[in-house]
Amino acid sequence: MEEIQKRDIRKLSLSELEEFFLEHGEKKFRAKQVYEWLWNKSLKNFDDMSNISLSTRELLKQHFSINHILVDLMQHSQDGTIKNAVKLYDEKIVESVLIPTSKRITACVSSQVGCSLDCNFCATARLKRMRNLNPDEIYDQVVAIKEEAETYFNRPLTNIVFMGMGEPLLNYNNVIAAIEKITSPEGLGMASRRITLSTVGIPKMIRKMADDEVKFNLAISLHSAINETRSRLMPINDKSPLEELSDSLKYWYEKTKRKVTYEYVIWDGINDDETHARALAKFCKIIPSKVNIIQYNPIDEGEFRQASQQAVEMYVRILESQGIIAKVRKSRGQDIDAACGQLANKNEVSQLTNI
Ligand code: SAH
Repeated sequence: MEEIQKRDIRKLSLSELEEFFLEHGEKKFRAKQVYEWLWNKSLKNFDDMSNISLSTRELLKQHFSINHILVDLMQHSQDGTIKNAVKLYDEKIVESVLIPTSKRITACVSSQVGCSLDCNFCATARLKRMRNLNPDEIYDQVVAIKEEAETYFNRPLTNIVFMGMGEPLLNYNNVIAAIEKITSPEGLGMASRRITLSTVGIPKMIRKMADDEVKFNLAISLHSAINETRSRLMPINDKSPLEELSDSLKYWYEKTKRKVTYEYVIWDGINDDETHARALAKFCKIIPSKVNIIQYNPIDEGEFRQASQQAVEMYVRILESQGIIAKVRKSRGQDIDAACGQLANKNEVSQLTNI
């Protein structure tokens, strides 16, 4: 018999799957059943689809594969954080993290293999970008963490942040498709307001998100509200300086009426002075916003060092005196390189040398 080139079944929409069944003389409603097994129940093989007849399962097997991710290595931090090294169908690896707190369990997921943005302080940048993740690969990371939350903490997954490897706005369509599945009743049925997308801030895409009326939260990795400093930290700022970013944020707020969160690391000798703190306070007035001051997670012996406690307190004082909410976030999972900016497939040396 002629070998059929198998397609990844989860690349098909529900209506495409319905069409497939009709073309093969099957009932249309079978598609919905299969779709639920694939997404809601995250089945990894056709034989487990118990309400689907043997012959239909054979038909599916003949035409399709289910390219499921595999959690290749799971590391547990002393603070409860779990890091998954996730193997994709083409053997590439990305990392995702489960972050437990007393109130929440958050999944931090990757959107690309590696990253193209070259932020100087981030370990993922060293990997370069290899490819975009497919919607199902993003979705599967969330499912894996949801299962781990239930197994290890006996608690449900409450939040999702796109703060793992990669720049979500450079893989926009797939990220949106994954979020659609995460929020839909056929998928995980999670609320959009529990999802946060973090970006370096690509103005064109921020406008697009506003036009698309997305319902999730937006976080911007700001790190400096002074162009010269920001460009030194994040080369993307040369292409899209702060003026353009702020224009796109105004557009975002006009359209969505949702405030943004600025992520901000304070480094010794780089942005730890009052001028930078005041520039940030001014930037925060552009649209309603709040600030998450995140601790720097060292990635090597390089030029970056976490600023002093006094500098952090100075920032908080200045921001709060101007009515801006500023939260200082403790780093999580540092001992297993699971904290912000540390995801670099350290246990997968082959990937680094393959580039
Ligand atoms: N590309 C997206 C999401 C990935 S990074 C973005 O840039 O927002 C998630 C957050 O970790 C960003 O705010 C990023 O600036 C920050 N980050 C990167 N490296 C870090 C490090 N070494 N220590 C602390 N935060 C870091």
